[in-house]
Parts: sequence; C-alpha cells; structure tokens
Amino acid sequence: MYDVIVVGLGPAGSTASRDLAKAGLRVLGVDKEKFPRYKSCGGCISTKIERILDFDISGAIEERVKGATYTYKSGRTMDILSDRPVGYNVMRDTFDALLLSKAKEACAEIIEGVRVVKAADNGSSVSVTLADGRSFGAKFLVGADGSSGFVGRELFGLNPKEAAVSITAEVPLPRKARPYSDKLFIDFGSVPYGYGWIFPKENCLSVGIAGDACKVGGKIKDYFNEFVTTHEALKGLDLSQRIGWTVPIYYDGAAPSVRGRVLVIGDSGHLVDPFLGEGIYYAIRTAKSAASVIIDNIGGKKELAAYQDWLEKEIHPEFKSAGKLADLVYNHPRLWYSILEKDPDIMLRFYDVIRGEEECASFYEWVLAKVKSKPWKILRRWVESRLLPS
Ligand SMILES: Cc1cc2nc3c(=O)[nH]c(=O)nc-3n(C[C@H](O)[C@H](O)[C@H](O)COP(=O)(O)OP(=O)(O)OC[C@H]3O[C@@H](n4cnc5c(N)ncnc54)[C@H](O)[C@@H]3O)c2cc1C
Repeated sequence: MYDVIVVGLGPAGSTASRDLAKAGLRVLGVDKEKFPRYKSCGGCISTKIERILDFDISGAIEERVKGATYTYKSGRTMDILSDRPVGYNVMRDTFDALLLSKAKEACAEIIEGVRVVKAADNGSSVSVTLADGRSFGAKFLVGADGSSGFVGRELFGLNPKEAAVSITAEVPLPRKARPYSDKLFIDFGSVPYGYGWIFPKENCLSVGIAGDACKVGGKIKDYFNEFVTTHEALKGLDLSQRIGWTVPIYYDGAAPSVRGRVLVIGDSGHLVDPFLGEGIYYAIRTAKSAASVIIDNIGGKKELAAYQDWLEKEIHPEFKSAGKLADLVYNHPRLWYSILEKDPDIMLRFYDVIRGEEECASFYEWVLAKVKSKPWKILRRWVESRLLPS
C-alpha cells in the first residue's frame, strides 16, 4: 500500500512524485514510456519557471530567447526583442528525463514502460491496474497522464475535444548553420484561432502549428503545409517527419480537479494556458500545489479540496484572462498584427506577463484601454460589443 500513486511522469507527474517523496511519503509513479521519451512540444518554457523550481535546469536549456520575429501569414516580418530572456528552449526528452531523475533521487518508486489500464477510487483507498496485470493500492491517486489521459477523461469527465489540434516537426539544423540566435519565430493568421511557430534548439528547429480544434475543422495538415512552404526561415528544409497531438487547454465549465481521493494536474486536468498553449510551467506548478495539499492532508492539516480552492484563486483567473486575450488576438489576427506593427511595446509588456512579472488580467485591461483610446475602429467596435460588461 502506497501513500500516493502518480499516473504519468511528464513534468507534472515527475514533479508531484518528487515533492511527495521528499516529504517522506511512499510514492509510486508509473509511465507507459521508458525515459528519455519523445514528446511533441515547442519546448519553450517561460523564465518564470525559475520561481518554482529549486534545482538547476541550465544543462537542459538549448537556447535562451529574448523575443521573436513575428510574421502575418509568413509575411510582414517584424522583430520584437527584449534585452532580457523571456523563455528557455528545451528538448522534452532531455528536460523530462531530468525531472524524472529528480523524482528518483527523492526515492519515489518508478515503473517505466508499462501503461496503467485501470484506476478506481474505492472510497477509503484507490487502486490501479497495469497492462502487465500488476495491481497497486494507495491512499491517493494523482492523474498526470497528459493530453486525453484516461484519468482526466474517465474519472473527471473532462472533454478531450476542448483542445487545440497541432502538427509539429523537428527539423535538423545545427545552431552553427543558422544566421540568427536568441529568438523564436511566431506567425499569426496561418491557422484559425492559433499560431505557427519555429523554436530553435541546439541541433534542430521545432516547427509547429496549433489551432482551435473546432475552428480548424480537420484541416490542420493543410494549414501546416501552407505555413512551412511559405515561411522564409523554413525554405529548403526537410519537414517530412510530422506528428499530430492535441493541447488540452483550460475551458470554462470543466469539472473540479479533485474528486474523492483523486487529483488531476497538468494536461490531464486541462491546465494549459489558452492563449499561448503554455503547459510545462502549469504542469509543474499544479503538481507542486497538489503535492503540498496531499502532504498537508496526510498531516491532518487540510482537506483535499484546498487544491481546487488554490486553482480557483491562483490559476483559473490567469487562464480566464488568457482566454479573453486569445479571443481578441485569434479572432482578429490581421488587426492584432497591425496594432503590433504600430505599437511593438505592447508585446514588450506582454513579455513581462510571460516572465511572471505582471498578471495577464492587468495586461489585458491595459491593452483594452489602449485599443479604446486609438482609432482602430473595427477592433474597438468589436471590443465594445463583445467584451465590455453591459
Ligand atoms: C504541439 C505542442 C506544442 C507545445 N508547446 C509548448 C511550449 O512550447 N511550451 C509549453 O510550456 N507547453 C507547450 N505545450 C504543452 C506541453 O507539452 C504540455 O502542457 C506538457 O507536456 C504537460 O505536461 P504533463 O506532465 O501534464 O503531461 P505530459 O508531458 O504529456 O506527460 C504525460 C505522461 O503520461 C504518460 N501516460 C499517458 N497515459 C498513460 C497511462 N495510461 N499509463 C501510464 N502513463 C501514461 C505519458 O507517456 C507521458 O509521459 C505544447 C503541446 C503541444 C501538443
């Protein structure tokens, strides 16, 4: 009998396993893959990660970025660069293996390469069954099995269709062979309600495109083809190895993230920022909070519901503001791009949000006020009709 079983050992599951084991709890973490394993991802982590990690990740960082070259439908190139880093680019196989090694160092028991096929909350305990037939029991279960993971889907009824769909490709191109450094490439308008990206790493470019599943309507491959054949930075490169994945963004009306003895964290709980699709930071942050609540619960100090309270106070408001920003930007990418061309400082201030130095809510209010005070009439009319309280 364990104290906690953690299903999935990406950033969320590894972090939870480590924090729980460090507190002296008996923890079992299980992942269907053997690490290091590939994960389809841009792999750009905002610098605010440093506020929540207590160990050095610099060995996994392949590029420190200070901003981006922006384009609209692969044209109208504009650089907006800060004098300080905004994000760190990692390859997920290396980064996730590092996090898992920290969980092992903390003495979490780890099973790799075996899928969890069943999990149940039996009232006074939880149980899981693995694909090889083994079963284990624990006091608590943490669902960290990622996008469309069965814990979130089956035990919490989270809707896997509330997601962005994506295509990515890793394109070999060593840093030495690139005429640029320290920046990303972001394209607006190349996909409905989303964006295209090129994130440089040490030996490759992580290239991708993601858009709202309903609005993309099954045409994600077409949008990807258009993006990669028209973007200047991708000319002549081989993008034949592609992979599709979903990004389970936060949505209003999702079920609470605690049910009985089970908690969901990271992608498994749809805890992904709906503007950028940033999920690594939130996977780690929600894992740390869930672990701390479980530790306090076992110590008789807190109800498990404290995790849900924390999400509603600290995370959901950020995501709601990010959702409003997404409506503004992705419903009107051309207008948004024109605004940025006239006033690039908007993006420089948004970098402070990414760094965790300003909240998304106040940034959003500031952008709205700016838009209202300038003669961008179409957007202003739209803002007044759709976003301002009546
Ligand atoms: C195309 C794309 C680009 C992205 N780009 C970025 C980015 O640049 N920056 C950013 O911050 N976020 C990005 N994200 C989001 C980010 O990848 C996720 O938010 C992050 O991986 C969440 O971590 P996690 O630990 O919750 O889930 P995951 O990293 O998905 O880990 C889940 C783990 O659970 C395991 N698992 C699943 N089912 C089972 C099972 N039944 N039994 C046992 N194990 C199981 C899996 O093998 C996996 O290791 C991107 C996502 C996509 C799809």
